[in-house]
Formats: sequence, structure tokens, C-alpha cells
Amino acid sequence: MTQPLPRLTLRPGKEQSLQRRHPWVFSGAISRADRQPQEGDLVDLYTSTGDFIARGHCGIGSIAVRILTFDPAETIDPDFWHRRLQAAYRLRQTLRLTDTPSTTCYRLVHGEGDNLPGLVIDIYGTTAVIQAHSVGMYLVRHQLAHALRTVYGPERLHAVYDKSSGTLPPKSGLDPVDSYLWRTDDPTPHPLDPRLVLENSHPFRADWEGGQKTGFFLDQRDNRALVGHYARGRRVLNTFCYTGGFSVYALRGGALSVDSVDSSEKAIRLCTENIALSTPTVPHRELVADALAYVRQMPPDAYDLVILDPPAFAKHQKALPNALQGYKRLNAAALEKMPAGSLLFTFSCSQAVSREQFRLAVFSAAAQAGRRVRILHQLTQPADHPVNIYHPEGEYLKGLVLYVE
Ligand code: SAH
Repeated sequence: MTQPLPRLTLRPGKEQSLQRRHPWVFSGAISRADRQPQEGDLVDLYTSTGDFIARGHCGIGSIAVRILTFDPAETIDPDFWHRRLQAAYRLRQTLRLTDTPSTTCYRLVHGEGDNLPGLVIDIYGTTAVIQAHSVGMYLVRHQLAHALRTVYGPERLHAVYDKSSGTLPPKSGLDPVDSYLWRTDDPTPHPLDPRLVLENSHPFRADWEGGQKTGFFLDQRDNRALVGHYARGRRVLNTFCYTGGFSVYALRGGALSVDSVDSSEKAIRLCTENIALSTPTVPHRELVADALAYVRQMPPDAYDLVILDPPAFAKHQKALPNALQGYKRLNAAALEKMPAGSLLFTFSCSQAVSREQFRLAVFSAAAQAGRRVRILHQLTQPADHPVNIYHPEGEYLKGLVLYVE
């Protein structure tokens, strides 16, 4: 017989957020444990009146438990992971992402949005890239790799790469090394570079081994398409360009010219490679520079479509006031320089910044720059980054398209 899981009891009243199906329990909500769990262990949660309420992975940070199930009869075993990955796959089928030749990269698992808190899985052609954000998920990575192989089958999945070294809590003491958990031993070499992927028919080289996050920012797919839609006849500036996603869409959408700016030389190299894949027929310039400094010194009226997609300025609530100032400063600098009739695509990917706060920061920027602007589009993350309705924090990407007068 298997041993029961460690049993954690909540303080009175602290069961309420779990009754509303929020998938996290903070450390302050726990009153006692019948035995001390290790980080990454499965634990059972009970209310102060002794009723089972949820089961999940234990952590040592401020999020003490990430919930996997509210069903006392559901055991967390290889079958469980298979069921959850199958459900995630079915959703992407519904989204027409699994069998669309024009888009071969997408997010299969988006943490809480797929009822798998602490886990991200991105698909690049025939490779799945796993990113564990919790020790619990890291410890089951081989089970996850196995479940992925069953869901996709040997024709459609050739490798599973674990890229958790940058996302696991630093205090976990695990010292993870990124590596392939599994790779097909097909002796015939792949006829094409397996890193070549398509997004809305545009070719990109996804570098999951060397790049940031899982190699490519899949969350801007729909917003890039909108840039492609508006780019015709415009001089485009893409700041914080990373792999040049927006730049490629702008070039292929008929821009007159595109300039891509990033402070990282490596990012600019990736961007240059991707631009080359698209064989542009109009000028493209890549610049290694600080985006704010670049925007501040650029000549007025130089660009009539500007993209601002900075990294998260606020990773935590504490950083919020500085982050809002940062968004205001950056947007004001751009708005001061943009000609009448131009378009600004501006984003925030900070989870700690709400949609309203971001809008207010951009509003203050417009007021400071003395510009009249109208909101044309309010943007968010694509459907393969779903938001669990009980976990509104999962809605992290916010964007505005402004018409500058
Ligand atoms: N727009 C990109 C994703 C941006 S990620 C896409 O569609 O894929 C954020 C990028 O900002 C990273 O490449 C990082 O190198 C860059 N960055 C961070 N700080 C910067 C700064 N001060 N100036 C310019 N780029 C910066």
C-alpha cells in the first residue's frame, strides 16, 4: 500500500480562494503539517475543519502549494500527466494549431491556463521544449516526456528538450543542466534544419538551446500579424526586437524600411538570421542599442510605425511603481517623436501590471508628450496561452495600438 501524502492544514478561512478554484496556496495560509514535505513533493490540503480540499506540488517560496487537482480520488501518476497533456493537445487542435502547415510552433501547455501550474511546454516543429517553473514539475519531467511521446506519436515528435535551468527557483539546490530528455535515434539525418519553423507562413529559426525563454516568443503571434497588416508603405521601428518577429512580418507586409533595435548582441544576431530567411527586398537595419536611448535620440518623424515590446519591467508587485514610470517614460519618448498619422504598438508583459494600469501609464505618456492619440486595438496573448478564469493573473500580455495625431 502506498503511503498517504503529507497532509497540510489551512488556517481558518484560508480555504476560500481554493473553493473559488484559485490554483495557488501561499505559505501564510498553512497552519500545520502532519509531516514536513520536501520541496517538489505532492501534498494534500485540508480545511481547518478537516475536509480534503486539494492536492498539489509543494514549494518553498511564497507559493507553498500549486494545485493539480481538487478531486480526492484523482491520483497524480503517469496517467494523470497523460490526461492533462491530452487535454492541452485537444485545445490546440480546436485552435487549429496542431495540423496547420503554415504555423508549426505553438504553446502546448501554459501553466495555470492548462491546469498545470508551474509547467510550460512549447512545440517547435517536431521538438517539444519543457520549462519547469517548480521543483515538483521538474521532478516529473521524464514522465512528462513520456506522456508527450504518447500524445504525439513517433512520426510527429522527434525530441523533448528540458530547458528549466533558468526558470527553477534559485534556492532549489538542484543545479539543473538543460538537455534532451529524449531524442529519436532515427539514423537518417533530418532533411531540413529541425529548428526551422513557420509562423503564419513566415520562416523563423527557433534556438531553444541558446535563446531566451524556450527560444522564441510565441505569445506575439497574433499581434505580429496585425503589424504585418498595417506595415504597408510605412517606415517601421521595432524596439526590443529579440528574434525579429515583428520585423519579419513588417517586411513581408510591405513596409518601406524596417529598423530593429535590441541591447543584446546575441538577439541581434538571431534577428539578422531570421530576416535573411525572409529575403527582404527593402532596407533592413539591425542596431545593438538601448531602446530608450535610441528612441530619445532618433530624428523626429523618422518612423510611422513603432513597436515597443520591452521585457517585464515589474516581475513582482514591489517593482510596480518603478515599472509604471518606466512604461510612461518609454512611451512618452516615442510619442514625442512620431509624426501625425503614425501608429504605435505598445506592450507590457509584466504580470504585476494590470490592463488598466498599463493603459493609464500610456495615457500619462500621451499627456506628457502633448499628443492626441486614439486607441485602435487592445491586444492580449493568443489563445494557445489561455487564461484560467479562476487565475486572472494568467492574463499577462497587454498591448495597445494607438493612432497618433
Ligand atoms: N518583441 C520580441 C520579444 C521581446 S523580448 C518578439 O516579438 O519576439 C525583450 C527583448 O528586449 C530581449 O531581446 C532583450 O534583449 C531586449 N532588451 C532588454 N532590455 C533592453 C534595452 N534596455 N534596450 C533594448 N533592448 C532591450
